Amino acid sequence: MTESTSIKGIINCPLCSKQKFYVYNNARGLLSVRCANCGRPILLDSDNLTAKVTRPMHLPRVPLLQPKRWLE
Ligand SMILES: [Zn+2]
Repeated sequence: MTESTSIKGIINCPLCSKQKFYVYNNARGLLSVRCANCGRPILLDSDNLTAKVTRPMHLPRVPLLQPKRWLE
């Protein structure tokens, strides 16, 4: 198993606990995701393996970037 595919922790959705977010070993910093179960935006802290509920209005306005395709 390479470093990029090993998991350092799993964070449950802080609201419904039904959705699990997998944090990979090379993940750093904050990540905004949306729970697939309850639909709420969640802010993941991949350094401390914690999560909290955010609101879109609290997120900084940043230009939309074109996603790059992940080629394997
Ligand atoms: Zn949820």
